[in-house]
Amino acid sequence: MTDLKRLLDCRLFLLDMDGTLYLGDEVFPGAVEFIRTLRQTGRQYIYLTNNSSRAGADYIPRLRRLGFPCEAENVFTSGMATALYLNQHDPGKPVYLVGTRAFRGELERYGVPLTEEDAEIVVVGFDTELVYEKLNRAVHFLRRGAKFLAANPDWVCPMPAGEVLPDCGSICALLTAASGAEPTYIGKPNRSMVDVISAQTGVPNAQIACVGDRLYTDIAVAKNAGAVAVCVLSGESSEADIQHSDVRPDYVFRDVAALAEILRAKEEARA
Ligand SMILES: [Mg+2]
Repeated sequence: MTDLKRLLDCRLFLLDMDGTLYLGDEVFPGAVEFIRTLRQTGRQYIYLTNNSSRAGADYIPRLRRLGFPCEAENVFTSGMATALYLNQHDPGKPVYLVGTRAFRGELERYGVPLTEEDAEIVVVGFDTELVYEKLNRAVHFLRRGAKFLAANPDWVCPMPAGEVLPDCGSICALLTAASGAEPTYIGKPNRSMVDVISAQTGVPNAQIACVGDRLYTDIAVAKNAGAVAVCVLSGESSEADIQHSDVRPDYVFRDVAALAEILRAKEEARA
């Protein structure tokens, strides 16, 4: 029997969404109940996404429509992580953004100073509103030694019917080719995503559980940050994938309903 202590000690659960709580518009059985279990057992939870094209607030109506309890404090994007990272590491430095209006709004909400001239930092996101002028300016600043920060390392964003959209990693590859500068990535699997949340919430990394279906992002971010890695088999990864991977989760469950059962059973045993 697996030792459950590390899992049961977790006070904050960072939740991947697609493949973990739902697939497209299909909510997994027991997924909403799983969130209630977290609340009833006194645990915090945050829906976590690497998507830096939308604001955190954009996720609230969608999650609620699917039945998930969700307030502003329960959503965290790689864009928000980038804003917090800037405030922690480079407060007040002027930033040139290659990103959507939603990402711009997010940085403004966190008080990050944005500029079109003399930027000291270039920040790149999943910019679905990208135009050539932004690339041109970003390369100009990077060639003059601006720091290069990127919200998420994903090359592509998966779409229905096997299509993909070029994502932040691909935009950065272009900027690197043109400027010679390499970005620091913030989103999963980089530990910054967990570190900034830990700093913000006061919960130490060792008491944070990352729950997800993808080994090289959801599980890797937990491993990199010294958090507890929980893999669910409801999405991308199978047990065979886990066995053949270098990235090993601390716990594996069929789905979040099975994880909820464990959390509930232990709570009842304690009561
Ligand atoms: Mg997923």
